[in-house]
Amino acid sequence: MIKFLDLFELNQTYRKEIDEAISRVLDSGWYLLGKEVQNFEKKFADFCGTKHCVACANGLDGLRLIIKAYDFKENDEIIVPANTYIASILAISDNALKPVLVEPDINTYNINPDLIEEKITPNTKAIMVVHLYGQAVDMGKIYTLAQKYKLKIIEDCAQAHGAIELYTQKRVGNLGDAGAFSFYPGKNLGCLGDGGCITTNDDNLAQKIRALANYGSHIKYQNLYKGLNSRLDEIQAGVLSVKLKYLDEDNQKRREIANFYRTHINNPKIILPQSQDDKSHVWHLFVIRSKQRDELQKYLEKNQIQTIIHYPIPPHKQECYPELHHLNLHISEQIHEEVLSLPISPAMQDTQVKKVVEILNAW
Ligand SMILES: *Cc1c(COP(=O)(O)O)cnc(C)c1O
Repeated sequence: MIKFLDLFELNQTYRKEIDEAISRVLDSGWYLLGKEVQNFEKKFADFCGTKHCVACANGLDGLRLIIKAYDFKENDEIIVPANTYIASILAISDNALKPVLVEPDINTYNINPDLIEEKITPNTKAIMVVHLYGQAVDMGKIYTLAQKYKLKIIEDCAQAHGAIELYTQKRVGNLGDAGAFSFYPGKNLGCLGDGGCITTNDDNLAQKIRALANYGSHIKYQNLYKGLNSRLDEIQAGVLSVKLKYLDEDNQKRREIANFYRTHINNPKIILPQSQDDKSHVWHLFVIRSKQRDELQKYLEKNQIQTIIHYPIPPHKQECYPELHHLNLHISEQIHEEVLSLPISPAMQDTQVKKVVEILNAW
């Protein structure tokens, strides 16, 4: 079986260094809010090119904390792509704000900047861009709109660690007012459990988020805000510092696989993903489309190739969002009916990649 993502193989690559990091933390007797987290925060901020990185418990919390820190008013609106992973939208509704869904561009799967302005109202406070599947959103038009309507730009970077935006040549996490990352094990930079962080160049925002993630307090037992408990463990930070060193290399391996798929898959029933240039896409997922998606998935399964659908149900059709059920979002609906993610990971063998191509072309 060619697994969709073999996490054991992936972490085995760095096994020795990971074991050392875990032992170091265990031996230190200090497990939260310590040196490992500080060290990782500094390195990840440098990597992204931002002034600050504040670690937290997971990617959803990263987004929740950013929105919470801005103190938007109930019923304020945040623009968000309609085809994103549900977590982007949960972070908005969790803060009692209204998610305003905008259709993606079918070629990039990222928010279509030309459809944003018509959705802006006096209540709009921010645009949340999501660098979906690993491709950095093209920010040009979004900057113009944010300036014109005085909107914050919040980045959901959970799928795009290390991607470089085409025009600014900056990394994701450094493209807006604040960005949130997830270190869920399967992400491009993943730990051995849950983890996340926020990146920003705004000193006050960073300070406030740091307090919010620690019950709302800068000084122990003095609470400025009604906060959360959302922290990254020292062990996870130690593991992330190991894996961060190899992130660019790992992303390059993903690119090589993606390029091989894109130049060798030639089945007319399959639509391949596009990328604007080499560095703007880190291929968290390699997402193809087909009108006969379900049939294709069964065929691949029978041929020992595991695939996943990202995502089977669009957010506006989810049971938990009855207030969104009336929306007509044809492009998102089409995407959700047609997409299929092929195996891709830095630990994948050449023979496996070739096998996937062979089986797909024989369909
Ligand atoms: C994974 C993911 C999240 C949430 O991250 P968690 O660490 O699982 O909470 C948010 N947004 C997107 C686009 C994601 O892929």
